[in-house]
Amino acid sequence: MSGSYQRDLALAVEAVRAAARVCAAVQQRLVTAETLEKRDRSPVTVADFASQAIVCQRLLAELPSDAVVGEEDAGVLRSGSQPALLEAVVRELAAEVPGPPSAEDALRWIDRGGADASGGRYWTLDPIDGTKGFLRGDQYAVALALLEECEVVLGVLACPNLPDGQGGRGAVFTAVRGQGAQVLPLGSGTKQGRPVRVARVQRAAQARLCESVESGHSDQDRSARIAAALGIRSEPLRIDSQCKYAAVARGDASIYLRMPTRKDYEEKVWDHAAGMLVVEEAGGRVTDVEGRKLDFRRGRTLVANRGVVATCGSIHDEVLAAIAKVQEEPC
Ligand code: AMP
Ligand code: MG
Repeated sequence: MSGSYQRDLALAVEAVRAAARVCAAVQQRLVTAETLEKRDRSPVTVADFASQAIVCQRLLAELPSDAVVGEEDAGVLRSGSQPALLEAVVRELAAEVPGPPSAEDALRWIDRGGADASGGRYWTLDPIDGTKGFLRGDQYAVALALLEECEVVLGVLACPNLPDGQGGRGAVFTAVRGQGAQVLPLGSGTKQGRPVRVARVQRAAQARLCESVESGHSDQDRSARIAAALGIRSEPLRIDSQCKYAAVARGDASIYLRMPTRKDYEEKVWDHAAGMLVVEEAGGRVTDVEGRKLDFRRGRTLVANRGVVATCGSIHDEVLAAIAKVQEEPC
């Protein structure tokens, strides 16, 4: 592993904090009962584009040769079909980038995220992970990870609505391979984090399980059967986004199950890279539902994997055995 990644880490934390400030402002201002009722996705669309633009702008300024594999691209904004959307994105950016930024700046920064995930060094970015949670006013995350030779070496997760564990709200989880995981407050410029460790749980029956709020993203019936097989009686904790990885990393839960709902769904690299490293560096384990290591060598998706299991580590094999047992049962 090259270097200690301190500069990359400081830059990544600053970038997700700036992106999260814009997302939080948009969530407060634009996600209303009315947008929810109309199923109007425009708030999340504005925040998604602005978040990707800010993170890419920060990375481009300091690390111009690094590639970024982001979830969004500026195609729809470039097409000219939604001028009001582009204007809104530029307006949100003005709060966080020196400028004022132009529409062309916004498009250029967003499209910096259009790299292919291949070897070498690149970042993965989910500008708003958990868009459904964002729209409900619930949990979401800005997730940024650095990969070298297809291994995740650094991950940061900004979780604006997660309790910070000290009576406040909003936390940034960070991890560098081999250097442990930390949590910092989201709001201040504090650089010094507190160490994050998974819970000490010896038997899965004592574990709290977490999963997606959305039953379309994870098979909740199957995880209920797995929980029953493990002797878990407590209700699952349902959280949107990679905040689930944060929950396991700091011991709010000890199992995160993501059970496939469809045979053909391929998990996206930006939905897991940062969260996986945060759990691993907090002392936990992350595999797919068949016990394979998550394989980031296949481009933008985890095509060689099925689903995800993250645990505090000590109970991982027990959880995998229960999954295998339940998979064999008829539905
Ligand atoms: P979560 O908040 O954990 O439910 O996950 C949100 C993520 O689920 C989004 O970023 C999507 O990329 C991803 N997603 C969308 N459809 C599916 C699906 N059918 N199975 C698993 N994940 C999905
Ligand atoms: Mg996502």
